[in-house]
Amino acid sequence: MSKYHTPGIETMDRDGLDSLIDERVRYTVRYANERSVFYRHWFETNGINPDDIRVHEDLLQLPIVSGRTIREHQPPNTPDFQFLSTGWEDVFTIQETSGTSGTPKSFFLTWDDWKRYAEKYARSFVSQGFGPEDRVVVCASYGLNVGANTMTLAAQKLGMTIIPFGRCDFASRVITAYRPTAIVGSVFKLLRLAERLEQEGIRIKETSILRLIVGGESFSDESRAYLSGRWGCPVYNTYGSTEGTMCGECTELAGLHVPEDLVHLDIYDPQMKAFVSDGNCGRAVLTTLLPEGSKAGTLLLNYDTEDTTAVLSRERCACGRTHMRIFNPQREAETFWILGDSVNRVDVEAGVFQPENMQFLNGEYEAFICDGGSPGGVVMRVNAECTDPETADRRLIEDRFVGHFLKNKKNLVQHYGDRSFSVLFNLVRPGELELHKLRGRPKRLADRRSV
Ligand SMILES: [Zn+2]
Repeated sequence: MSKYHTPGIETMDRDGLDSLIDERVRYTVRYANERSVFYRHWFETNGINPDDIRVHEDLLQLPIVSGRTIREHQPPNTPDFQFLSTGWEDVFTIQETSGTSGTPKSFFLTWDDWKRYAEKYARSFVSQGFGPEDRVVVCASYGLNVGANTMTLAAQKLGMTIIPFGRCDFASRVITAYRPTAIVGSVFKLLRLAERLEQEGIRIKETSILRLIVGGESFSDESRAYLSGRWGCPVYNTYGSTEGTMCGECTELAGLHVPEDLVHLDIYDPQMKAFVSDGNCGRAVLTTLLPEGSKAGTLLLNYDTEDTTAVLSRERCACGRTHMRIFNPQREAETFWILGDSVNRVDVEAGVFQPENMQFLNGEYEAFICDGGSPGGVVMRVNAECTDPETADRRLIEDRFVGHFLKNKKNLVQHYGDRSFSVLFNLVRPGELELHKLRGRPKRLADRRSV
């Protein structure tokens, strides 16, 4: 098995890669103008001549397209799907993204799109050490979003075996009988799975599992380290979406590689209304890159993913790949401003998963930002599950949490000092968190302030 899935592209030097990207930018922009009603109008209204978009830097001059833009240009808002960029005879599947509000966004995929998506996952699998001998249980769901299906297609390209459960509630015999070498899931699903399998008498660290692949949500270094310790194997991140990101961490664990020949990523700061330079944090804005002659069902130019990240490096990685690496993206929807500092769900998670805490906790938590006792004050209520709340050292857990949480939060440190910001840490028994009673994706950090 080669170290790379597509070595010529994955290890191409920067000049070669840039000219390949620019060639695809030109084809993609021309394709958008010819095939999509939305983009034709978009170029016209913004006074852009598509022929002037020659290199990827030219994309920085174009406006940003948001999820809302897509919704506004599909039924019931318009009679047709204006983002659709191919004839129905070429549409292979219709996908929907589970929008946080309103109608889901519709995505049309051609077989070319599926093949490109699978190519991205195949590269990522190989970069994580996968090969034909691997048997992978996929716990990610086989639904209207593309992750699980694309991984399955990618596995076919690599000769891997897939066990497509689509859920994480499979019986322990799956582990003992098929001896899978990897599981794809989310951090919390895989933690719960470990817990359950151990209750069923399986020694997790002694199973056939060699690696875990997580995706679908951001997580802290601390929760990854805990999961990795629990299973006794490395945990690799993938960042995929129906929109066509699909970046993966290689075994160097040095950021997520962006498949730069297939998707172009820029970082945009909505507050500054400008693109930012490498190393600075902002929203990941993506542009589909089509190889000459291929077809796309839904094309995206300068699409705001609403996920925050920063470019970590464009230098060659120790794995030999030249494609740029980004930080683990975080959801903008999970970021809240508290007294002048931004707080993401991952900051709370990092505090909970402090190694010393994990002798008492199982990792399940939820936090609520609430009005404080004094005017303008804020209280963060954190509930964490604990096997034995009566004997656990709550003060110790809370101190560790607060100590880590306040790191790099210069405003909150002061407010904590004068008590206008406080943390109320509460230990509950497993299963007692409020989020277990709610349907849908658990909301681990919620803002319940009155204003
Ligand atoms: Zn690498």
